[in-house]
Amino acid sequence: MARITLDSVRKRYGETMAVDGVSLTVDDGEIVGMLGPSGCGKTTTLRTVAGFETPTAGTVSFDERDVTHVPPENRNVGLVFQEYALFDNMTVRGNVAFGLKMRGVGKSERRARADELLDMLGIGEMADRDPTTLSGGQQQRVGLARALAIEPSVLLLDEPMTGLDAKLKARLRDEVGDLLTELDVTGLYVTHDQEEAMLMCDRIAVMNEGRIEQVGTPREVYESPATEFVSEFVALDAPDLPFVRW
Ligand code: ADP
Repeated sequence: MARITLDSVRKRYGETMAVDGVSLTVDDGEIVGMLGPSGCGKTTTLRTVAGFETPTAGTVSFDERDVTHVPPENRNVGLVFQEYALFDNMTVRGNVAFGLKMRGVGKSERRARADELLDMLGIGEMADRDPTTLSGGQQQRVGLARALAIEPSVLLLDEPMTGLDAKLKARLRDEVGDLLTELDVTGLYVTHDQEEAMLMCDRIAVMNEGRIEQVGTPREVYESPATEFVSEFVALDAPDLPFVRW
């Protein structure tokens, strides 16, 4: 896994400054949450890290390598995005092995790596199933396995829990949070959900109008908000949350 560094990243769309000077380092093995209301620039920031957007100014680096102008397919990023639906013309195993196939990995090795990941995510027995027959939570795990199969340098997750019910979300939060820690993944995790960010991420970057207002551990952000905006945005309904990753 690699360290991600964003240095003064700006992205303008016409009159809109979607990202307005974001600097952030995600250390090797760390999961940083990008938290903020709709339209604050989270997805655009993530898309510049993935390589789908070229910043108007600033740079993106993985370790010492400047990847600002490197196309997405040459960045070795694992993506868990809403729009990256599972392929419904392949089995679950086929989905997970797809990226490896594209890289010319042989069939038996692909199969072994896909099965290993599926087992790790607790869905090993679903390998031969059609993904459309899986529950939302199971599909989400297949998506994660698919992203991890290529052994990405960095993992990018954009609202991966969207569409799941609250109970399942709570369970996946714990399970996936543990798994990401165990795998020593470097990741950026976009969400508008404070609770999710607090529970899943080592640090949180709170964004507002294209800028980061504060970066800190969940505890720092919650207990010592740097600005009024952060204070209002992270005010939680349930102050007795089990802050498992603190
Ligand atoms: P978030 O992920 O926090 O909801 P986005 O990064 O999607 O925010 O959007 C930030 C701002 O940039 C919004 O005002 C949005 O309308 C604008 N924006 C995002 N993508 C585009 C685009 N492709 N063209 C024009 N404006 C865009």
